Amino acid sequence: MAKKTALGLSGIERNYGQGETVLTILKDASLNLYEGETVALVAPSGTGKSTLLHIAGLLEHPTEGEVLIGGENCSGLSADRRTAIRRNSIGFVYQFHHLLPEFTALENIMMPQLIAGLPMAEARERASQLLDYMRIGHRGDHRPSELSGGEQQRVAIARAVANAPLVLLADEPTGNLDPETASYVFSALEALVRQSGLAALIATHNHELARRMDRCVTIVDGKIVDFVA
Ligand code: ADP
Ligand code: MG
Repeated sequence: MAKKTALGLSGIERNYGQGETVLTILKDASLNLYEGETVALVAPSGTGKSTLLHIAGLLEHPTEGEVLIGGENCSGLSADRRTAIRRNSIGFVYQFHHLLPEFTALENIMMPQLIAGLPMAEARERASQLLDYMRIGHRGDHRPSELSGGEQQRVAIARAVANAPLVLLADEPTGNLDPETASYVFSALEALVRQSGLAALIATHNHELARRMDRCVTIVDGKIVDFVA
């Protein structure tokens, strides 16, 4: 059976206007991420990793090119439809957790499910299971400020997968952690992704962590190419 594409990027171009000059960050960048596939995006700072992830996550529009999520071309869609796809099919993890400070860990993981229309009890049950899976079940009642950096990131990862998305996008999810914590959090992320059959595109500077993915890509002259360590 042919592999199905979870995320398709085709001929992506992204320019930033800077006064008289135009800065081209991505040019003819293309990538197919198959269902269940994990890919590391390894490239130096300033090459366009965040830009690419934001475009893939429908948080930004490319200047040119197409983004397909689960086979659906998202380019010409209404803002409402893009938001719906983002909520249901895409999970996003940032370098800094971006958890809601006034809510507990459990509530932060419940939130996207409630927005998607799940009943309270169901959302709570799934959030609780995800916390257990990330080995922070005992931290459910804590607010983000009462958690360590590694715990905050594990909550952020749990929140990103709470609605069982098709694609997980992570922008240097362990970049803010010490090496030992980074390795632990990355392992938790990897286990969750593999167990749930998610497709994942993970930007990281850490080559050791990147090598654990199915394959590695980088950005050269605005294009996505295979990365050979
Ligand atoms: P990375 O995540 O790989 O560090 P980014 O995608 O954040 O790279 O940025 C790529 C390049 O685009 C950088 O040179 C950055 O300065 C530039 N850039 C990013 N966002 C903007 C913006 N809104 N306006 C102008 N330039 C930007
Ligand atoms: Mg970045």
